[in-house]
Amino acid sequence: MAGEPQADCLFCKIVAGDVPATVVRESETTVAFRDINPQAPTHVLVIPRAHYPDAASLAAAAPEVAADVLREAGAVAADDKVEAGGYRIVFNTGSGAGQTVFHAHAHVLGGRGLNWPPG
Ligand code: C5P
Repeated sequence: MAGEPQADCLFCKIVAGDVPATVVRESETTVAFRDINPQAPTHVLVIPRAHYPDAASLAAAAPEVAADVLREAGAVAADDKVEAGGYRIVFNTGSGAGQTVFHAHAHVLGGRGLNWPPG
């Protein structure tokens, strides 16, 4: 069922506390933690506590939680003081776009120059 924890999902395990993560923010509906393989000085993932496979399915099923994810992404940038230099919020969607964990997550990247278009 949409939103239910998935036994084989790494990010559901992080939400449950069964897999360690460096958590930087928590809200009623979201968890934010530092990416284990950072691609920028600030590289934080913001995830919904509930399981949705990608950002589009999250937005369709629980738009208020999708908004929470975006608000928390902005709060991470403020906490890490990367707002002034600019930062990026990325939702890789589908394996062809580099999605490897199929639990919706926003990458928050900042603290260095970011090229466009991304690779
Ligand atoms: O967009 P994508 O699905 O590729 O992003 C998954 C991200 O999850 C990767 O950046 C990876 O480094 C991160 N990750 C993590 N902690 C884990 C496993 C993966 O931060 N335990």
